[in-house]
Amino acid sequence: MLNPEDLGKLARALDMTREEELACDECFEELDRFVEMELAGLDAAAAMPLVQDHLEKCGDCREEHQALLNALRTEQGWTPVRLIWARLRRFFRADRGPD
Ligand SMILES: [Zn+2]
Repeated sequence: MLNPEDLGKLARALDMTREEELACDECFEELDRFVEMELAGLDAAAAMPLVQDHLEKCGDCREEHQALLNALRTEQGWTPVRLIWARLRRFFRADRGPD
């Protein structure tokens, strides 16, 4: 039998895996838009809280987010975020192996 304390823990565990959470693939899909907003000086975290949430929890995606920002900083001239991200994504996909 579950006692009330266990039920409380269970409820919290379920809450942590609520449906609005992004998977890594979904985070990947949104990351270029997220970074575009950051670069534009907009509050990306407020506009895309699920991406922000995922980045805080997921080291892999945080690394990718950082890599994208770094790539944009070192890029000569203006290259669309999307193009740089497309390149990085191929790199990360290769690194992770086939889906
Ligand atoms: Zn992730």
